[in-house]
Amino acid sequence: MVPIQMVDLKRQYLKIKPQVDAAIQDVLESAAFINGAPVQQFSQELQQYLDIKHVIPCANGTDALQIAMMALGLQPGDEVITPSFTFIATAEVIALLHLKPVFVDVDPKTFCLDPVAVEKAITSKTKAIVPVHLYGQSADMEPLMAIAEKHNIPVIEDNAQAIGGHYTFKNGTVKKLGAIGHIGCTSFFPSKNLGCYGDGGALFTNDDALAARIRMVANHGQSARYYHDVVGVNSRLDTLQAVVLRIKLQLLDEYVTARRAVADAYDAGFAGIPQITTPYRAPYSYHVYHQYTLQLNGVSRDELQKYLQERNVPAMIYYPVPAHQQKMFAGFGGAAFKLPVTDDLTTKVISLPIHTEMDPDQLEHIIHSVKSFLN
Ligand SMILES: *Cc1c(COP(=O)(O)O)cnc(C)c1O
Repeated sequence: MVPIQMVDLKRQYLKIKPQVDAAIQDVLESAAFINGAPVQQFSQELQQYLDIKHVIPCANGTDALQIAMMALGLQPGDEVITPSFTFIATAEVIALLHLKPVFVDVDPKTFCLDPVAVEKAITSKTKAIVPVHLYGQSADMEPLMAIAEKHNIPVIEDNAQAIGGHYTFKNGTVKKLGAIGHIGCTSFFPSKNLGCYGDGGALFTNDDALAARIRMVANHGQSARYYHDVVGVNSRLDTLQAVVLRIKLQLLDEYVTARRAVADAYDAGFAGIPQITTPYRAPYSYHVYHQYTLQLNGVSRDELQKYLQERNVPAMIYYPVPAHQQKMFAGFGGAAFKLPVTDDLTTKVISLPIHTEMDPDQLEHIIHSVKSFLN
């Protein structure tokens, strides 16, 4: 059996090595390392894939979130609603910009923002809502967008974990995740569902004026060459990353299918086990399983993790400490937020290996190992 990893990027690379190596060689020959033609080509291809008007590439997913908030013109003290049960970047950029993070609890089944709790948290100072499509599951976007529209608040989707996923509205309309809110943000960190070979990120929007502001903010606030209208940042996608992403975007749907097949195998393997809750399949969400995350009921997570480790099965806790409990947010009244679902989930979740290259014998070994611990 091939050693099991949470993510096996090496084997994924080996399958596309000839194309990737040739494309990288071309960039080296062209020496167009910044803003080479592939950056624009990739943006257009992603635009078509997502069925959105504008894709603006940037340096990483954290920058994408920061640029989104800057482009929306958020001002110090403005409130931004976000889940606490997420990777820290989502909340960190809010604080970095001297905005006020308003942490809202998640739905216990989907692990994503609870729309009812979001509406309750809205005040006259709320200037953005940032749902996170955690682990590849879509947040419930239809009610979230309705609430946002009612209160005239922009929505920034943190789609770093769910590119390739989609949401089905009640009337049957299907939209790609990241293309539903006013701005979508994603990350191309290597282990993400569409990952490059370094750092990368992008913003998406259908709004022409917003797209222009995003481009300006991402490029030193520049409106015309050497004319700088607002304070911006320097955030670009390298040409080398763009050529890798062009190749991998063609394979994204295949990659998603492979992840969903792994999830199907896990779901079948763990069916009917009372100590385990497998990931919820929300009817509106085409889940892309960035993570396959179990909830444990009455089982020691530490002991399970240790037991698996002894059998060469890695397992990770995403995330052991929710954002509002992090020291980083002590000065923002973080711990004062009452988020019982989030606090409960952080003690119960455990993520198993899932990626595009898993073998049946690996899956069998993982499922067997989990079951033998529980028996
Ligand atoms: C990875 C991730 C980010 C940040 O992306 P980087 O490219 O690492 O900066 C933001 N939000 C979520 C939910 C993520 O998983």
